[in-house]
Amino acid sequence: MISRKKCLLLATVLLPFAMQTQAQLILDNYVIPAGKPGAAIGKVTGANKATISADTSGLFTIEKNTLRLKKGKSLPAGAFKFEVAVSAGTEKVVYTLVKDEFHQNKVVAHRGAWKNQPGSQNSLSSLKDAIKLGCAGSEFDIWMSADGQMVLSHDPEIGGKKVEETNAAELTAIALDNGDKVPTLEQYLDEGMKQNGTKLVLEIKPSKVSKERGQELATKAVEMVRAKQAQGWIIYISFDYDICKRVVELDPYAKVQYLNGEKSPAQLKADKIWGFDYNYGVVNKDMSILKDARSKGVTTNVWTVNKAEQMTQLLDAGVDFLTTDEPELALEKVKGK
Ligand code: MG
Repeated sequence: MISRKKCLLLATVLLPFAMQTQAQLILDNYVIPAGKPGAAIGKVTGANKATISADTSGLFTIEKNTLRLKKGKSLPAGAFKFEVAVSAGTEKVVYTLVKDEFHQNKVVAHRGAWKNQPGSQNSLSSLKDAIKLGCAGSEFDIWMSADGQMVLSHDPEIGGKKVEETNAAELTAIALDNGDKVPTLEQYLDEGMKQNGTKLVLEIKPSKVSKERGQELATKAVEMVRAKQAQGWIIYISFDYDICKRVVELDPYAKVQYLNGEKSPAQLKADKIWGFDYNYGVVNKDMSILKDARSKGVTTNVWTVNKAEQMTQLLDAGVDFLTTDEPELALEKVKGK
């Protein structure tokens, strides 16, 4: 018999967790197909009967929990993001839907475009330059500061300070190589959502302090993406499989790619992980992994592909994304295909 006291204790420990993981009124897709009047956009999950409670554009409807463009309606030229409020029972959620004009060229700029550009890696300049080049994606890395803020850095230390042991105000004052300042995740999302050509490839770094801190960062990242309504722009990546699984737990339709290289496409599919983003050495050892992934509907991304012949090899093998420090060269290679 579990005592009443133990029951209460269990409920105290488990309830907040259950509440956090409950997926309520989420969409399975936030990207609007372009040029298809009346197109279905995504299914609202987490409620039996969802309705639209506000839509200033007048373009959207919900039929049988599927959010779609109204019959015969297509998107106006010039506009690319639309807010729609959806209600069910007492709950109301605002989604930002984004018109699908994302580049299909497969090129993901690794830490943004910086190597052949004036800005620093993992800066707003490197994002702006990846967008200007027309990359399919701009990758970046986040850590959690001592005071629980999300900031960009590749390494656990930046400007001589340990990111996880320093407050965000101090970190964001650090000048990077080319004069850029360390950005926050919020600034990066705000900048990225000004456009709809380049996806934001968000790497969640495992914590050096504890496994739990990595889980906390994953939770905070998904919460911020939700609060900013940035779902349509985001691909998550991480070396920590439990971080990938945490993201999927919080948003079952999040696009997540695993980085560490040892999981088979079948395993990823079983865990509802959208794809892999593996090192070139792993993929080159057995290129059939690309075909295997494709047959299972698992997306493929390979890092860090900086050599022209490797780009050609992977493009010929039908890779979905190439992550590279040389996006200019990769874009040339794609154009030649
Ligand atoms: Mg990275």
